[in-house]
Amino acid sequence: MKVLDPSKPSLHIFDMLESEVRSYCRSFPTIFTKAKGYKLWDQTGEEYIDFFAGAGALNYGHNNAYLKEKLIQYIQGDGVTHSLDMATEAKEQFLKRFQRIILEPRRLSYKIQFPGPTGANSVESALKLARKVTGRSTVIGFTNAFHGMTLGALSVTGNKFKRRGAGVPLHHTVSMPYDGYMGDGVDTIEYMKNYIQDTGSGVSLPAAIIVETIQGEGGINEASISWLRSLETLCKEQGILLIVDDVQMGCGRTGTFFSFEEAGIKPDIICLSKSIGGYGLPMALTLIKPELDIWEPGEHNGTFRGNNLAFITASEALRYWENEQFSTRIMEKGKLLNIRLQEMVASYPQLIGKVRGRGLMQGIVFEISGLAERICERAFSKGLIMETSGTDSEVAKIMPPLIIDEAGLVQGLDILRESMEEIAAELKLTSKQA
Ligand SMILES: *Cc1c(COP(=O)(O)O)cnc(C)c1O
Repeated sequence: MKVLDPSKPSLHIFDMLESEVRSYCRSFPTIFTKAKGYKLWDQTGEEYIDFFAGAGALNYGHNNAYLKEKLIQYIQGDGVTHSLDMATEAKEQFLKRFQRIILEPRRLSYKIQFPGPTGANSVESALKLARKVTGRSTVIGFTNAFHGMTLGALSVTGNKFKRRGAGVPLHHTVSMPYDGYMGDGVDTIEYMKNYIQDTGSGVSLPAAIIVETIQGEGGINEASISWLRSLETLCKEQGILLIVDDVQMGCGRTGTFFSFEEAGIKPDIICLSKSIGGYGLPMALTLIKPELDIWEPGEHNGTFRGNNLAFITASEALRYWENEQFSTRIMEKGKLLNIRLQEMVASYPQLIGKVRGRGLMQGIVFEISGLAERICERAFSKGLIMETSGTDSEVAKIMPPLIIDEAGLVQGLDILRESMEEIAAELKLTSKQA
């Protein structure tokens, strides 16, 4: 029997009625009522700083005022809400802005597919199209990758627990070591290249390689710029399509709109979702190099591809990218975050932590099993929402809305620091805090 905490709302109806599959409400056991910017409030009026940002779906913050205004106007005016993939003014505006603000300044040329409104659906469409274009069936994914929970997306996902949930064998994929997986000295692109080229390796030429530039769910593993470039070269040499799953790292999480901009690569297919809708509304895109767009009309369909409310907020969110300022600010805040995290790790050496990631996608990996979870749990009790990632939940992940200001960042980080301090003390180890 659980001990009831009288200060917290009762989760009885959720425990009784909602499926056992529920997960985040277990990490954050309260009932939320309101949200604004980087803050949330619960039924008891308790305030929380949000370092989770809807797993990356709330880059522009909760109930962003600019986005909300456009949304309310649109709803008030009886703008079309649902439209399958019919042409609507809301979609027209989005397409025009995406072309003008995102693609053109980056000299990128892509056709835009609207798959069903989730990341997994974008991944499914990318895998299907790559197989159709190349006529080959194998797709290479990476160790610790996360691409979503549908069968195709799971087949290129690393996590054993999530894969097992499929209940059927996950076929036509091969998992290869991500950058750094085999230790510092090993170039895993060379390793993979041998497998692909050698006629005795048992690995057939793949249709595509699907990659995240930073593995968010997989533990904030970051691929180096040179590794990403080598990967692109390998794909070009072998006629393999390169799919970048930018569902979580895209829309500015690392500082640039696409997470691969610094590497200067041009993926054949790009998956976007989570924050593309801007307001936390469901939306996804699959960007396809024009020459690869060989879909037959209706070949990858879906009822909710025309979420016009999301198109409205997505268009408005793109305005953040009209100049360099937003990007510059994300990187500045990323630097501040990094400095603070490095300080914390140095202050509590007994916790044996290491900082990972860049931009506003950073975290601390802990060697001691269960520590990241304990720290996140403690942080929640003090009003900070953050999640763990990695196969063994070994990473405490810091992922605030990108619009957070320095004060909010510091406020959240102070709670994290206090939590680490308490846990360090509880481990009955000495802290050499300055
Ligand atoms: C969240 C995520 C997905 C899946 O998106 P859903 O909307 O949950 O289906 C796919 N790829 C990456 C990298 C993600 O972070």
